[in-house]
Amino acid sequence: MKNVIDARCTLCGHTFEAHPDTTVCPDCGGILDIEYDYDYIKSKLTKYDLMDRNERSMWRYMEFLPVEGIGKRPRLRVGMSPFYEAERLGKLLGVGTLYIKDDGINPTASLKDRASAMAVVKAEEAGKDTIACSSTGNAASSLAGNAAAAGFSTYIFVPSRAPKGKVAQLMMFGANVISVQGSYEDTFRLSAEAIDRWGWYNRNAAINPYLMEGKKTVALEICEQLNFKMTDYVAISVGDGCTIAGVWKGFKDMYAAGFIDRLPRLISVQASGCYPINAAAAAHTLDWKPQEENTIADSIAVGVPRNAIKAIKAIEESNGITVNVSDDEILEAMRLLGRNAGVFAEPAGATGTAGIKKAIELGLIEKDASIVSVVTGNGLKDVNNAIKAAGEPISIPAEMDLLLDAFEKKGIKLP
Ligand SMILES: *Cc1c(COP(=O)(O)O)cnc(C)c1O
Repeated sequence: MKNVIDARCTLCGHTFEAHPDTTVCPDCGGILDIEYDYDYIKSKLTKYDLMDRNERSMWRYMEFLPVEGIGKRPRLRVGMSPFYEAERLGKLLGVGTLYIKDDGINPTASLKDRASAMAVVKAEEAGKDTIACSSTGNAASSLAGNAAAAGFSTYIFVPSRAPKGKVAQLMMFGANVISVQGSYEDTFRLSAEAIDRWGWYNRNAAINPYLMEGKKTVALEICEQLNFKMTDYVAISVGDGCTIAGVWKGFKDMYAAGFIDRLPRLISVQASGCYPINAAAAAHTLDWKPQEENTIADSIAVGVPRNAIKAIKAIEESNGITVNVSDDEILEAMRLLGRNAGVFAEPAGATGTAGIKKAIELGLIEKDASIVSVVTGNGLKDVNNAIKAAGEPISIPAEMDLLLDAFEKKGIKLP
């Protein structure tokens, strides 16, 4: 990989050669970060080359990715998700210009597909035929789907609270699924032990440094979809912290390569029932404390975040803002996105938008700011919470009189 220099430990700073199955720092156990040669990347790619490219997936950004190629196995089409200017919703929230990056429009309906697509390519490079992970749900379903396309077998550990939609995906894609009766922390621990024991390829984002490199492609796309004119802010929901760290890495890559001329400030949004990363970031310390996992947003109910250090550093470096939102605020953001932008988000997918609304209300951001809200997962994954947010339909026998009654009761006036 001529574009990659090495893998540097985020804790002790030691550097290592980047192998396909590189995981954590052999010296101190810290999480590694892949480092690139931006002069080399610049010599190979300009933003005009990029704009002329036909590849409509995350692999469009090959020069920024830590892979030799995309392997020989079949793969799903991940990335190049829709990007909208959401004028009506922006006005409602009181934002200058609001954009929505809808990453729920991916093969398995979440941003996690970007990491899993990367995992599948690296597992092939590493010569493995089985991949395993633990996940609150979306990393699991995306690994199961991407692995099914590529012909890998998978062992997947999820906490028993994972929503049915996500578990249905796992079963449909033929994963070996272990539903752990315990917290996400318990789930992670058991998966780590099993991976160690059987030598499977490890798709745990906090251990495998390549996964964040897949996730960062969402930021590379945002830059391109903004015509390389960066917004003031980018809002995103945060659980383990890999996604926000990946997003920041993507923006820094584009900046280092000279494709954008400024970096956005990150708006890190967590649930007020579980916000260990925001608590530490707001106190400007890397010394985060575990919390309980009390939120309907299952994808970000992470009391012991695995990538807290990278995430807190990303928030700090970007001069970012932290906002915590209640479950009611998340449900409201789901309705706002659905009704004013036609975007159906799962709770964690709408959390970034809930954070924008709250940040405006709290006066944390200027009213004329331009903001990208990243919707990280699709609402069909968690239908129970969607109905909780949106309510039940009119239900009547097939009679016109009853329809008229029902309309009157609902206040629907028709000629
Ligand atoms: C995983 C996930 C997140 C948060 O990503 P982390 O890397 O855990 O911080 C947010 N939204 C959705 C839908 C997710 O699946």
